[in-house]
Formats: sequence, C-alpha cells, structure tokens
Amino acid sequence: MAKNPLHCSFCSRSRDEVKILIAGQEGHICENCVEHAREIIEQELMVREEKTSSNFKLTVKKPIEIKRFLDEYVIGQDEAKKVLAVAVYNHYKRLQQKAGEFNSGNEVEIEKSNLIMVGETGTGKTLLAKSIARMLNVPFTIVDATVFTEAGYVGEDVESILTRLLQVCNYDVAAAERGIVYIDEIDKIARKGDNPSITRDVSGEGVQQGMLKLLEGTDVLVPPQGGRKHPEQKLIKINTQNILFICGGAFDGVDKIIARRVQTNTIGFNVDKELQENMKKNLLRYVNAQDLKSFGLIPELLGRLPVVTHLDPLDAPTLRAILTEPKNALMKQYKKLFELEGIHLEIEDDVLEFMVEKAVEYKLGARGLRSICEGILTDAMFELPSSKETRFTLTLEYAKRKFDKSKLSLLKVA
Ligand code: ADP
Repeated sequence: MAKNPLHCSFCSRSRDEVKILIAGQEGHICENCVEHAREIIEQELMVREEKTSSNFKLTVKKPIEIKRFLDEYVIGQDEAKKVLAVAVYNHYKRLQQKAGEFNSGNEVEIEKSNLIMVGETGTGKTLLAKSIARMLNVPFTIVDATVFTEAGYVGEDVESILTRLLQVCNYDVAAAERGIVYIDEIDKIARKGDNPSITRDVSGEGVQQGMLKLLEGTDVLVPPQGGRKHPEQKLIKINTQNILFICGGAFDGVDKIIARRVQTNTIGFNVDKELQENMKKNLLRYVNAQDLKSFGLIPELLGRLPVVTHLDPLDAPTLRAILTEPKNALMKQYKKLFELEGIHLEIEDDVLEFMVEKAVEYKLGARGLRSICEGILTDAMFELPSSKETRFTLTLEYAKRKFDKSKLSLLKVA
C-alpha cells in the first residue's frame, strides 16, 4: 500500500492513519504523539518537583479534581470515588500541616482517616486504588492481606506491609512515612466463626491484631526484606502516623448481615414496599462498621478504619461503558494492538452488546470482559499479523462464532 507522503515525524504514521496532523516548520506531529508528549511532560515535571523541593513539596489536587481524574479510569462508583478523593485530599492536608506549610500555631491536629471499601469482586476496588496511585506523588503500594499470618506461623509478618512501601521509595524512610497503602482482601482475615477461642486463628484474628499497631500510628520495626522477622536481622523503624491505609474486600455474604440489620430496624414501621425492593437491590449501599464487625472484623481494627464506603455491582450499561470509555479501555487497547500491526480494527456496536450480554449471562463481571475479548479476537490476532490485511471488521456473526468455539462458552452457570 503506497503511503501518503504526509506523516507524523515522531511515530511515522501516515496522514490516513491519524485524525489530526499538525504542521511544524520541518515536520508534522499527530494527535497521539501530542497526547503522549503531554503525559511525559506531566510526569517529568512531577518528578522534578519532588526532587528539587528541600523538604518535600506537595501539589495538592482538590477533591473534585481527584474525582475527575478517577473518572478517566473508573466508570461509575461515584460514592467510593468521592470518599476516596476526600480521604486522599485530607491526607495531603495533614502532611502539609506536619510540614508546617499550612499552620504555624498550635492548631487542631488533623487525624488521619483510614478507609475501607466494600464491593463485590471485580467492581473496581483495586482499579480505584491503582488509579489514585497514578496521580499521587507520594509512595503507594498494594498488598494482599491473605499472605500474612500471626507471628510464629508459616507466612509473612504484617510488618512486611511496610517493607513494600519502603521498597517503592528505595528505602527512603521519610518518604515511606507519608505514603499510602492499599490492603486488598481484608475480608479474608475476618475472624472465622463467632467464638474466637475454639482454635488459634493465625491467619484471621491474629493478623487483625497485628495490624492494629500499624494502623494506629506508632513506631513499627520493619524487616527490610519482608517476610518473617528474625533475631539477627537489622530492622528499620517507621512511624505510621502519617501513612494512609485504604482497605478493600468483597465481604461475600455481608449483604445478608445488612439485610438482617435493616429489616430489624424497619420492623414496626410502615416502610414503603417500593423502597424495600430498591434497598434489596443494592444492600451494600447501607454497609456500616457494625456489619463488618458481624462479618468478623474486630472492633479495634474497625475503630482504626473509620470511613466505610461501598462499590456498586456492575450492571450492563456500566459494563458496556467499561469496554469503551476509560482512558485505557479494553477496546482502545485492542485497537492499539491492531494498529501496531498496521491494521485498522473496526468493532461493530452489536458486538459490544454481545460481549456485555455474555459477561452478565456467565456472571463474569468486568474481569470477564477481557477473557471474552480474548476468546473472540485470539484467532484474528494470531492470523492477521502474517496477512496483508490493513483493515479488520469485527462483526456480530464473527464474534458469536469465535465465542461459541472458545473455552468460555463451557463456563455457563446454571
Ligand atoms: P476488585 O479489586 O474490586 O476485585 P478490580 O479493580 O481488580 O476489581 O477490577 C478488575 C478489572 O475490571 C479492572 O482491571 C478493570 O479492567 C475492570 N473494572 C472493574 N470495575 C471497573 C470500573 N468501575 N470501571 C472501569 N473498569 C472496571
């Protein structure tokens, strides 16, 4: 195929492959490269700003800006976004207060408010945490609560949560002390059963107990390489007073606990039937610390996680939006992948509807969308790079055929 002589001087894409080509004195630049350059500049300036500040300088984004940023990556979940934006904003404020930028007198000290996000798996908890991390100029790490066990048992010490934080900032203790930690699967360390004393609960209550001192803001001795602490090891002292902890978990079955509580509260009142039906649809919306306690988190831990928020289950329109809208939406990623092979990928609208339908039908959620896309597009991605095609149109008929052949179609839940 003869290339149009006009092309981007940065990525060499020809005029036909881009939407806009801006002319300079000796060359051209396309919209993709402009966007890319903007991101590089943003990141570079942020890094420089951090490096050049004597103490450390924080660029505080207002909660609305933080939420707007999250909107680019996460669809829906407005309540969680707002709560998270406020928590992160206040975290920055508190850090400024500590750094003496905000207040000089003896003003009220702002306490941190660690938070907990409750939402079915695959609704965007980790994505929210990761997206926040993209925007922040404080160290950030994600850890999984399931790897920790009480001291003396096989597993890792809870202190190694902080090791991860240290590692992301190259063992700069001062930086780690103002970081943010996302602890995933916090529900998996819930107390097993109501009676705490029957057996040792080394990966449940024991870990919760261990986490208390991390969350409350004291000096913690951290093994520099993570894992288990041992006597000959040199430990690093970290003060956790300014570290913000965000916890997330699916809390499977908590809806029944909420239902029971809400029902008990409304017994005797003449509650609107419609309201009751609406409440039933998304009970997580009403989650509070009391429910998490009934689920198996100990009150001391909940006391240190004062903000509880929820994520909504994903309905079909949300799944549809997830396919195309986020900055790095799946469809954008596939288009890019094909584009890198010089192939223009066209996806018909009814294919998107089909994918969403299957994700809902097979109860695969947002995570399943990727597997569905893979199932449908693998053959094309396998064959097209060796062909001379410059265009591929994904039709509903093609998608159905490939999906039925894929392993996914066997997963149907009764
Ligand atoms: P969780 O931590 O709640 O189990 P994740 O955040 O890991 O779920 O979500 C899994 C994947 O599903 C994400 O990587 C993302 O691609 C997609 N996803 C889930 N929820 C959303 C959402 N609200 N907006 C955009 N993408 C989402």
